[in-house]
Amino acid sequence: MLEKREFYINGQWVAPAASNDFEVINPSTEEPCAVISLGSEADTNAAVAAAKAALPGWMNTPVADRIALVEKLVDVYEARAEDLAQAMSLEMGAPIDLSRTSQVGAGSWHLRNFIAAAKEFDFDAPLNERSPNDRIIHEAVGVCALITPWNWPMNQVTLKVGAAAVAGCTMVLKPSEQSPLNAMIFAELMHEAGFPAGVFNLVNGDGMGVGSKLTTHPDVDMISFTGSTRAGIAITQAAAPTLKKVDLELGGKGANVIFEDADEKAVKRGVLHMMQNTGQSCNAPSRMLVQNSIYDRVVAEAAEIAAKVEVGPADKEGRHIGPVVNEMQWNKIQDLIQKGIDEGARLIAGGTGRPDGLNKGYYVKPTVFADVNNQMTIAREEIFGPVLAILPFENEQEAVEIANDTPYGLTNYVQTQDGARANRMARALRSGMVEMNGKSRSAGSPFGGMKQSGKGREGGKWGIEDFLEVKAVGGWA
Ligand code: NAD
Repeated sequence: MLEKREFYINGQWVAPAASNDFEVINPSTEEPCAVISLGSEADTNAAVAAAKAALPGWMNTPVADRIALVEKLVDVYEARAEDLAQAMSLEMGAPIDLSRTSQVGAGSWHLRNFIAAAKEFDFDAPLNERSPNDRIIHEAVGVCALITPWNWPMNQVTLKVGAAAVAGCTMVLKPSEQSPLNAMIFAELMHEAGFPAGVFNLVNGDGMGVGSKLTTHPDVDMISFTGSTRAGIAITQAAAPTLKKVDLELGGKGANVIFEDADEKAVKRGVLHMMQNTGQSCNAPSRMLVQNSIYDRVVAEAAEIAAKVEVGPADKEGRHIGPVVNEMQWNKIQDLIQKGIDEGARLIAGGTGRPDGLNKGYYVKPTVFADVNNQMTIAREEIFGPVLAILPFENEQEAVEIANDTPYGLTNYVQTQDGARANRMARALRSGMVEMNGKSRSAGSPFGGMKQSGKGREGGKWGIEDFLEVKAVGGWA
């Protein structure tokens, strides 16, 4: 079993101030795979002090030099891609193919996008041509606490670290206690890339320990958090007395609206997207809204596709879905599937219990419900498992009403070949992102949600802006 008790503080790996071991469980086997330490108040204080001490030097480092270090980071990151992928698969259960491609790939993609966006960003410029003596300076917010979840771990770490680094912020990363190993490799990469001591620090811990110490710490200027809406609310409250800047990327309950003129691959794409990463994606298209005229055909097709989704351990090569992350999630998903049955939805694939032959490990059957109405629990709660709810609708207006009738507003999806309708839908849907006909957003596009899916945006120039204060100077000579 791996022993990884140290934290990365002020440019070196240090022993925790007090011993507080935590076993990381491999969700494919339910066996412990590593032991880490959960940090204490003293560890958190040491990391914040290092970040605070490094701030003046780092924020005054020329932007070009900060970008150059992120460029070096991309090189070392890509050189260690296999180690990162193996660590993720071990600790959070993503199949190794998914880890090697989308999971690790997302990290390179974000870092490269930040490099490009930072090169174009006006960090310091006159207000406009009419006001040559007014200058607008963007400067680092300061010491940032970066709190990340386990589901797309490198995606989230790089979205925060890349933006904070080019913006000139110093940081303390607290990765999820469920997936600390890949974040610790990332800390090695920050060291190897040559970031000055104290610019980046890592302390492992849970939400109640290091997490809550960071969110109340007087020397932390900003919290960038990705995780559940529940924790996002708690963090906002904890940060209020010190009025920290708080950026939140939270949960979702995306609608995937399938009109009768959707392309022939739309249903398959929707089901497989839902199942990807075992349904553990904030932007999963978890409510499939289907126009009445094609409803029966779509339901039959969705059931058939879901029945063919293979489930297996993370270290197995090939395309399948892995286990969910832990026992608590497994139990929660089982309860929600049962609720779907009890509340009268029609189970057309999967169901409760483990898939055949997978008796150990947190495996869930790829599950689809038809005849769901939007008031049922499975349509309202973020399940965070491979469970799709299919809901019928009659026309465009009703589709919009159902899609928007949720506390969340992260990503919605539209499938139609009618361009004018697609554009109307894009405007009508209340979410930070809308994706049409299987086309992803492009590099440098902002990621984030409305309503209870969060505030702030990550990625590209918007992600950098969130780590910057705007200073207006009058009388510039
Ligand atoms: P979580 O909220 O339980 O934990 C996320 C992180 O916050 C962990 O590091 C955890 O230790 C920490 N934390 C928890 N409570 C805290 C508190 N009170 N104070 C400080 N830190 C605290 O979420 P999770 O189970 O790790 O991740 C799944 C959730 O993340 C889902 O709801 C998912 O939708 C959401 N998510 C959102 C996005 C997005 O970009 N919108 C991306 C990925 C995941």
